[in-house]
Amino acid sequence: MSALNTANTKNTNLYDLSFEELTAFLAGQGERPFRARQLYSWLYGKGEGSFAAMTDIPAASRARLSETARADGLFLAESLASADDSTAKYLFGTDDSHYIETVFMKYKDRNSVCISTQVGCRMGCKFCASGRLGLKRGLAPAEMALEVILSEKAAGALAKNIVLMGIGEPLDNFDAVKKFIENFTDDHGRDLSRRAITLSTCGLVPGIRRLASELPQVNLAVSLHAPNDALRREIMPVTKRYGVAEIVEATRQHYETTHRRSTFEYTLIDGFNDSPAHARELAALLRGMNCLVNLIPLNSGGYRGAREQSSTNSSVHRGSGAETAQRFRDILGDRGVPATIRKSLGSDIEAACGQLRLRYES
Ligand code: SF4
Repeated sequence: MSALNTANTKNTNLYDLSFEELTAFLAGQGERPFRARQLYSWLYGKGEGSFAAMTDIPAASRARLSETARADGLFLAESLASADDSTAKYLFGTDDSHYIETVFMKYKDRNSVCISTQVGCRMGCKFCASGRLGLKRGLAPAEMALEVILSEKAAGALAKNIVLMGIGEPLDNFDAVKKFIENFTDDHGRDLSRRAITLSTCGLVPGIRRLASELPQVNLAVSLHAPNDALRREIMPVTKRYGVAEIVEATRQHYETTHRRSTFEYTLIDGFNDSPAHARELAALLRGMNCLVNLIPLNSGGYRGAREQSSTNSSVHRGSGAETAQRFRDILGDRGVPATIRKSLGSDIEAACGQLRLRYES
């Protein structure tokens, strides 16, 4: 039995429980095992957290559940839709008055939802609004499940892919993230394939190793953004703990264990990391790996560099132009490293993570 509290208290959030834990919880209320299958199907299959709506469950059982458990924990505070309706951003409030963001993206053949895994972040990447107020706390499995379910309801569509790339560093909240993934992919509920889930990290090497061994079907995306330690340290302080070579090696080992192709995310920042020399250095670093480089033009808002933040004469870094991005991609491609330039969806609704939340939290 897990350490999770399955006692009969109103604090038990059913979205925090694995199927086995839910079965034990209901057994404590005198329910037969099939009730857990029914309930899990409501929670994940139908995305329904209101006991009143679960009409095939006897009224007496629902009344008991209402007194002892809950299946909520987020409320929709604000939503923004892009002009072309391809992207919606949802700001959810938590029980303890924090805010997180979820982005729902509609593509032709599939929909994808990008969820937050922490309230804030302690990694301090300079180009990211999510970490500006530091880390408040990790999200619970229930809160991550509700991000998916409530954003699907608001968007009026189901997500086929889940991307853990919103606010927070997922590997810094590993246990809760793992539980969320296990619950969401349980065949008693949603039965989503773990191959449809991608976890993005700034490069926490022990976490990458854990991911490979404990959730080998989940896809790995690594936010690299620079081809060497000196440059990367300027924008990603985590580089002091884990250097570029160590991160790339952990990613290489991840492929050896899982046989799943990893992605390296590389934000192109004008005049900073986008020269032909940087492209050649990156190609040499990744040569021979089964990976894809995702080149991302920096969000239109830009950011202030570490040195400039304390200066009144500050300059704002901008994204690279289209020609520079294509040249960078071609240099990688010529050297056998596949790369794509990501279309930036929804920049008109501040889709870069953390920007909407900042307005509420600060
Ligand atoms: S980019 Fe990711 S890891 Fe870095 S501060 Fe933002 S949320 Fe945290």
